[in-house]
Amino acid sequence: MRIDIITIFPEYFAPLELSLIGKARASGLLDIRLHDLRSWTHDRHNTVDDTPFGGGPGMVMKPEPWGAALDDVAGRGPDERPPRLVLPTPSGRPFTQAAADRLAGEPRLVFACGRYEGIDSRVAADAALRMPVEELSVGDYVLNGGESAVLVMVEAVTRLLPGVLGNADSAAQDSFAPGAMHNLVEGPVYTKPRVWRDQEVPPVLLSGDHGAVDRWRRDEALRKTVRTRPDLAERLAAEGDLDRRDRE
Ligand code: SAM
Repeated sequence: MRIDIITIFPEYFAPLELSLIGKARASGLLDIRLHDLRSWTHDRHNTVDDTPFGGGPGMVMKPEPWGAALDDVAGRGPDERPPRLVLPTPSGRPFTQAAADRLAGEPRLVFACGRYEGIDSRVAADAALRMPVEELSVGDYVLNGGESAVLVMVEAVTRLLPGVLGNADSAAQDSFAPGAMHNLVEGPVYTKPRVWRDQEVPPVLLSGDHGAVDRWRRDEALRKTVRTRPDLAERLAAEGDLDRRDRE
């Protein structure tokens, strides 16, 4: 997969050199390219923002550098499919595990990191004439810029690519995964020692009975989902994803 990130703070993305993503980049599984938006400015101060039309506080990112940056970065050869452009914004659709799954199926993604009060809205409209564009929010809160949201999205997407995780099964067992986890959040996990500060590991996990362990994990996942994410439990029940036994 190729990922291009356009930002005024390329150095914000140093963590993408580390750990599993760093390894995936080194092995050629993942091609991540950073671009400084200011290279598409032409004034002495490399200006990327201006006052908002209609008044109000704060500044808005100017369309010209964004338009030029996207023309160059998201341009394509005559036979190539255009990349998908992701615009992080608190006003976007929620970025969920399902969205991560969907984006992981794309060969090329471009992320455009907003700052200040956001990017002039004509930039998204103009880009949409040439490529699929989606606005995504990482949560119902406001960050200072799109960089940390993009780090979150890139990590959630790239760990789903074949070869990125050491054990391919582990993503399938994580919270929100369809299949074994039934879209629930994950329940408690334990490692050695068997007893720690008078707390014992649940005996079923030592039983060697894989069927019993699977049932226990599913019950605990359901219990935790009901406790921490009643909204999710209700939605899954309404969609028929939880059987009658689960709801009792
Ligand atoms: N004025 C905007 C609003 O109220 O919706 C907030 C702008 S925010 C200060 C600056 C930038 O941070 C946004 O353009 C976006 O790129 C990013 N951002 C902030 N919160 C975000 C969130 N919850 N999800 C994704 N991106 C976010």
